Amino acid sequence: MIRTIGVIGGGQLGRMFALDAKRMGYDVIALDPQPRSPCGQVADEQIVAQYDDFDAIERLGSRTDVVTYEFENIAIESIRRLEARGYAVSPSSRVLQITQDRIAEKTFARDCGAPVAEFAEVSSAADVRAAGERVGYPAVLKTVSGGYDGKGQWRVADERGAREAVDKVGGARLIFERFVPFELEISVICTRSARGEIVSYPPAENEHDAGILSLSLVPARVSSDVASKAREITERIARALEIVGTFCVEFFVTGGNLLVNEIAPRPHNSGHYTIDATRCSQYEQHVRAICGLPLSPPELMRNAIMVNILGTGTGNTLEGIDQLLKDPSIVLHVYGKRHATNRRKMGHFTMLIDGPVTDDHIARARDARALLRWTRSSDDEGPAP
Ligand code: AMP
Repeated sequence: MIRTIGVIGGGQLGRMFALDAKRMGYDVIALDPQPRSPCGQVADEQIVAQYDDFDAIERLGSRTDVVTYEFENIAIESIRRLEARGYAVSPSSRVLQITQDRIAEKTFARDCGAPVAEFAEVSSAADVRAAGERVGYPAVLKTVSGGYDGKGQWRVADERGAREAVDKVGGARLIFERFVPFELEISVICTRSARGEIVSYPPAENEHDAGILSLSLVPARVSSDVASKAREITERIARALEIVGTFCVEFFVTGGNLLVNEIAPRPHNSGHYTIDATRCSQYEQHVRAICGLPLSPPELMRNAIMVNILGTGTGNTLEGIDQLLKDPSIVLHVYGKRHATNRRKMGHFTMLIDGPVTDDHIARARDARALLRWTRSSDDEGPAP
């Protein structure tokens, strides 16, 4: 019988998960180094500790019935120790191990029969020539672990550029990947339960700005063949991973074909729309999966555009909300972060749309975002340490 859920990571994904878990009657304990984290604010309690503080993580395990995590850059050792002590953790350390490492992840996807861009592993300048010959240029080099939101990533045109990228990271493992001239990026949010039940939402179409998700729209403007193929590949990955929980597969669409780019073993930014546009959000599906409850049909009730609200670095007070909310189709979510550090994800809004999503809707969503700005108020605590 599950009463209390532990969440490692106190960010916005944890917060939206905790809000659904609380609505469904569960107690939630968050673990995050930052006091009053976005998730900690809505959880019953927060343990303030680093993600590699094994004692604190074990305390979280001992005080909860199941532990989950809201981001993948945590020490795998933490999850392995919890499992070794007999605490329930979802998704498992095996899933985390595969998805934490871009080489393991791409190899896994390829072994599932999912197409991926050509890739090779490099960790020294000596590896670059062979990788270039195998994969070709232009290429994208990314750190194998620890990168997010476009950090730890270099687009290179030739061997010289690739060597420079390798020098920058000083011996760290990199994935050397063929640059994909994609037409679109899409993602599929999927949940698998312990009983093996699987649901996947219609693909979202994603627009990035300098590596950070800027806008998602659903359903993605792809053929029904591409949409069902993306869902089929995602569900195949779910089965092969034996994942319990909500996760996301990101794809490039190029020439009508799909290439898997990334697997995120947790609810995903491109699935925020599910809160307002579907009957059961990606977060509720995650609660259901890790608590052994039946999953819910992933039906889209309305079409939607989700727009991320990023920080500008000038303050902690969001202005323009009064103008924004004059549009009745907009639902606002703000994450309670104390300081709007430059380009930090501070909130999002979802614009609900009847009928097909058009370029006019996208322009309206962009205009709506332009109404918002961060300003400094007298109680601004300054940047997080
Ligand atoms: P990632 O961290 O792998 O999700 O990469 C962040 C973003 O960089 C992606 O959403 C793409 O827009 C871009 N990107 C990553 N890998 C490639 C690639 N092989 N070819 C083209 N663009 C890429």
